[in-house]
Amino acid sequence: SKREGFATVPDTTWRDVGALANVREELEMAICEPIKDPQKFANYGISAPTGVLLWGPPGCGKTLLAKAVAAESKANFISVKGPELLNKYVGESERALRQIFLRARSSVPCVIFFDEFDALVPKRSTDLHEASARVVNTLLTELDGLSEREGIYLIAATNRPEMIDEAMMRPGRLETLLYVELPKPEERVDILKALIRQRGVIDVELAEIGRRDECKDFSGADLESLLRKAGQHALRRRAAKIEEVDFVEAARNIKPSVGDIRKYEK
Ligand code: ATP
Repeated sequence: SKREGFATVPDTTWRDVGALANVREELEMAICEPIKDPQKFANYGISAPTGVLLWGPPGCGKTLLAKAVAAESKANFISVKGPELLNKYVGESERALRQIFLRARSSVPCVIFFDEFDALVPKRSTDLHEASARVVNTLLTELDGLSEREGIYLIAATNRPEMIDEAMMRPGRLETLLYVELPKPEERVDILKALIRQRGVIDVELAEIGRRDECKDFSGADLESLLRKAGQHALRRRAAKIEEVDFVEAARNIKPSVGDIRKYEK
């Protein structure tokens, strides 16, 4: 597997992403276009946004979108998990953070993806640990240093946007806030189609199962486990291929992983 914090171009494409057409369009405008044609924004007297914050319930495609953005822009991709960057000795987190931006500068165009961003940049309230405050400040300094349009773009992801320090959301930082929602019935079909296409052995028609009540409140991640479990079910009954009954049985054994959706609503 790929090493955390190092730059590579992912192989995810837009075809791998089901539903989420609006978010995709916003990301193309905010990141893909400026990477492909940096001059375009300048011609309108505006600068491209430095970063985007994706938020919403877990398992609905935030990481997937970030990878697709980088791949479709032929940009390098550096992925960092907030909590992992924090688990360091005094001063080490800041150094690791600066290292990430250095690495990004030496591999432009580059998309830096910060997952579990709330862990990295919590509100700087009074009781905030001094170490966290230093990390927030380091990140702000790095971001403000990017204003010269160096071909480095940030995508941050969180399930809890209200936990993030507001200073992060100012213009020139993570200005664009995009909601990545739990799929509706029709969108579940679309996601299943994308997942089935990647595997190539299952009949795409079976994606229609996603519309049914058995799949109510399933996230993209749940739909991925639905495919896996349907495969296992077909294998167990020694069927020649995966059929509707395998999906229905599998769906009955999956509990939607997003518990209380109200926690994540806009
Ligand atoms: P978390 O908040 O837990 O980090 P996330 O929003 O980043 O979750 P992903 O890691 O992108 O979610 O999704 C998990 C998996 O679920 C993906 O690898 C993919 O297989 C599947 N998936 C989720 N959403 C979609 C989608 N819209 N289209 C296709 N596959 C999806």
